[in-house]
Amino acid sequence: MLMNSLRQATCVLLFACVLRAERFEGVEPHMGTLVRITIYSHDASPLRAAFDRIGELDERLSDYKPESELNRLCRTHGQQVRVSEDLFHVLEASLKLSALTEGAFDVTIGPVTHLWRLGKTPDAETMGRVGWRNVVLDRKLRSVELKLARMQLDLGAIAKGYAADEALKTLRTLGVKRALIAVSGDIVAGDAPPGTRGWRVGLEPAGGEIVLRNGAVSTSGDTEQFREIEGVRYSHIIDPKTGLGLRSAIAVTVVARRGLDADPIATAVSVMGEERGRVVFERRVKKLIGAGPK
Ligand code: ADP
Ligand code: MG
Repeated sequence: MLMNSLRQATCVLLFACVLRAERFEGVEPHMGTLVRITIYSHDASPLRAAFDRIGELDERLSDYKPESELNRLCRTHGQQVRVSEDLFHVLEASLKLSALTEGAFDVTIGPVTHLWRLGKTPDAETMGRVGWRNVVLDRKLRSVELKLARMQLDLGAIAKGYAADEALKTLRTLGVKRALIAVSGDIVAGDAPPGTRGWRVGLEPAGGEIVLRNGAVSTSGDTEQFREIEGVRYSHIIDPKTGLGLRSAIAVTVVARRGLDADPIATAVSVMGEERGRVVFERRVKKLIGAGPK
């Protein structure tokens, strides 16, 4: 009798140990910023796989690394180049948003952002190498053709959101469902932490917080990243119509199902400004964000 209840107690104890997941957190530099991943798991090892997936995407999508897949593509023009599924997928989403926002979102803005980084504004020749219609995709061949010479793609407003999505996907394949990935201001959440409704995410710079699960939130337009050029402060978000960084102090937060949508939409609405941004968002862009966080 005693042995039996002891055996039962041991079983219950073991079962409890198997079920109990602990909280693990890691921070690493990737994509020119700090990435923070928090998971509930039996051990910390899934963090490694998630960070490695983000590192892999950085190698493909970075416009800072000369040998990234993106920059190798940018050294070609007038030919169809077969690319990775990741690069194709991000470019496809980018061009779709360019069409919906009449070019307010434009990943061909690279020649201008590279000058911005040096504290310079673009001339007509530089602006002549910008324009999303000069990127032609072929889904069957999974190829990209850049129509003009010396184009420069810059995925800085979409790659972080996609990387957060992909890190979550990697964690899920390893059985970790309760996770939060923050690539700077681009945040993607899986299931809620045990016993809660969701992950509490602070909204900077507007203040407040939201409770997020199985969804993404991105904030853009912050006045943190700017260059002073001839006495004027220009944000790192460029209006492709003028080639100049934004000067309005706008901050846009977008909640969507995927980081791949929240990240670029926040940037696009920042470019369009509050009034036009709201109209275009309601009429054309909102349908992209999916069912929203569950
Ligand atoms: P953050 O990088 O601070 O999260 P964003 O997601 O808004 O901010 O991305 C800004 C980056 O996107 C810029 O640094 C630049 O590389 C790129 N970018 C700037 N203007 C545009 C634009 N109009 N369309 C697409 N990408 C842009
Ligand atoms: Mg963005």
